[in-house]
Amino acid sequence: MTIDLGTPRQLDDAEREVLLADPRGYCAGVDRAVITVEQALDLYGAPVYVRKQIVHNKHVVQNLEKRGAIFVEEIGEIPEGETVVFSAHGVSPQVHRDAEARSLKTIDATCPLVTKVHNEAKRFAREQYEILLIGHDGHEEVEGTAGEAPESITLVERPEDVDHLEFPPDAKLSWLSQTTLSVDETMEIVRRLREKFPQLEDPPSDDICYATQNRQVAVKQIGAEADLVIVVGSGNSSNSVRLVEVALEAGAKASYRVDDASEIDEAWLEGVERVSVTSGASVPDDLVQGVLDYLADRGYPAAKAVNTAEESLVFSLPKELRRDMKAAGRA
Ligand code: SF4
Repeated sequence: MTIDLGTPRQLDDAEREVLLADPRGYCAGVDRAVITVEQALDLYGAPVYVRKQIVHNKHVVQNLEKRGAIFVEEIGEIPEGETVVFSAHGVSPQVHRDAEARSLKTIDATCPLVTKVHNEAKRFAREQYEILLIGHDGHEEVEGTAGEAPESITLVERPEDVDHLEFPPDAKLSWLSQTTLSVDETMEIVRRLREKFPQLEDPPSDDICYATQNRQVAVKQIGAEADLVIVVGSGNSSNSVRLVEVALEAGAKASYRVDDASEIDEAWLEGVERVSVTSGASVPDDLVQGVLDYLADRGYPAAKAVNTAEESLVFSLPKELRRDMKAAGRA
């Protein structure tokens, strides 16, 4: 017996809608890090070495490579005396020492909001706290923060991890987090931690950064009744991956992450009326425009922006770079 599934119903334009998250894309820390590498290339000439991906976006990395940036995994790969930029995710003190040992000229593009978490870790460790760092094992930001106080930090990845933690009742405990986590999941972990360890102390301010929070609020808004949410961002971008999860938790029927429009599977659009689009904090907006063009080519109308927050934060460039630009008469 064959079952006739019929031909998919053609949707007319009036039934289709595209919602576009605002804010989305570049945050202040990513913008600063990318400009840092561009300015370093202009000022010192190629090559400029960058330890790890400057931001977690393959298109950004490829564009900078074309201009003469060389991305390496570790300091030992860089010839002595060259210039190295540290990525927005931050580095541990050991990486600074390794760079010094190779006489490298360093430019630190660590996002100031990551540096804030490093400083909190150092202070808590100095004051004899055990620090529960909520984050993803192996993520560069977590490696950098943990490296500030390796003896005092315990990593907590999931709510269930709390069950396996043991500390004496009089232990001084505090928690910190990676800047790009799901706000809701992090708060669930903190709730469990506090239930088990009532003496737990909070950090002085939120570690999950404004950009991560704003993009999650926005995707909840545009994702709640969407048939499909497309998140533009790379697979190693923590905040982009979280946006897919948050969209699904908010009620989106489906959500996928793509690096660019070429990764969209046409089948995702079958029967889909409302498509919502957003992007992670390391994504240039031309990649989002590519997705909107793709949708337009398939009969979807122009996107309606849904604004949930205003962002105006701008960080000044790393001080080493500003000093050299000034000396060269470019500041
Ligand atoms: Fe800084 Fe947040 Fe952007 Fe990371 S996502 S670079 S912490 S502003």
